[in-house]
Amino acid sequence: MPKLKVTVDPDLCIAAASCMGSAPKFFHMDDDNRAVVAAADGSEAFFQILDVTDAEKADLLEATSSCPTTAITVEVVVS
Ligand code: SF4
Repeated sequence: MPKLKVTVDPDLCIAAASCMGSAPKFFHMDDDNRAVVAAADGSEAFFQILDVTDAEKADLLEATSSCPTTAITVEVVVS
């Protein structure tokens, strides 16, 4: 199962929300209209280490490429 480090740079996020269209399970908006990364345990933060399926990994990579300000970074911890 892939393990990914997913990060949102809050200084770059402009609340365009395309990440939520691509991977709604993993991106939510915080009270300041910035995307945060949601983990399976319900926690939300600007970065998370996530165990994901291959399909979820594809969704996260699509979200990364869809972000107009390149605010999202996905690093592969385990492929
Ligand atoms: S797509 Fe990028 S700019 Fe838009 S909410 Fe997501 S992280 Fe923020």
